[in-house]
Amino acid sequence: MENVNKINVLGINFNNVKMQDAVNKCNEFLLSDKLNMIITPNPEIVMHARKNEEFKNIINNSELVIPDGIGVIYGSKILKTPLKERVAGFDLICNLFENTESSVEKKVYILGAKPGVAQIAKQKLEEKYNLKVVGLQDGYFNQDAIPEIIENINLSGANILLVGLGMEKQEKFIYDNKDKLNVKIAIGCGGTIDVFAGTVKRAPKIFQKLGLEWFYRLLKQPSRIGRMMVLPKFLLVVLFKGKKESK
Ligand code: UDP
Repeated sequence: MENVNKINVLGINFNNVKMQDAVNKCNEFLLSDKLNMIITPNPEIVMHARKNEEFKNIINNSELVIPDGIGVIYGSKILKTPLKERVAGFDLICNLFENTESSVEKKVYILGAKPGVAQIAKQKLEEKYNLKVVGLQDGYFNQDAIPEIIENINLSGANILLVGLGMEKQEKFIYDNKDKLNVKIAIGCGGTIDVFAGTVKRAPKIFQKLGLEWFYRLLKQPSRIGRMMVLPKFLLVVLFKGKKESK
């Protein structure tokens, strides 16, 4: 598993893994002696990293990079270096929580989302899975609170840290504090905490199967149209500049 091959899409090195490989990797991470960072780029993140060298380096230096959006899979096919399958961050977290192969007790710290949301997510997660949520912190804090938050995370004894602060902010938080955090897995999880709490609904399975989750989100939150225009742009860049930029 150490040499899982990588596939480059517009400068981002994706691990070419199936869901089960990613879960196995997480089980390995839980036994390791260091923090392992998981990043879940979708086309929006890839396009943002394309213009932001620092963010791109953070992604490419992390331990596991999974293709979160169906657009990334299409992009890799256009480049004739197909990724095996979409591995959505939300699904990976659920599968990791469900997985009973690892004997390591799962102790989760939830960092992110609006005040009160993580508390509801904690109740739902503990009802559903065999895990403990050992600490919480909402995602609207001042920079000067960071040392205390890190201390809290470490004191909680968490081995899994979910960081949902939105793209880039969450990855930067993990990367900048990598050496100070004692967790084994830290994952930038976007709006996942809201979905666990039930304040945001995930697309029904049929939309997910058809690769139309983005369309469902657009129907539910038409204000995302601006953000979503990045999808066709991403495919156009892959088509016209993909070969040159994907090395
Ligand atoms: N968020 C946060 N702190 C911030 C900005 C955002 O905790 O300063 C949270 C927000 O409440 C939401 C998540 O980050 O729970 C980002 O959600 P979004 O749907 O934008 O995720 P993305 O599409 O970036 O994965």
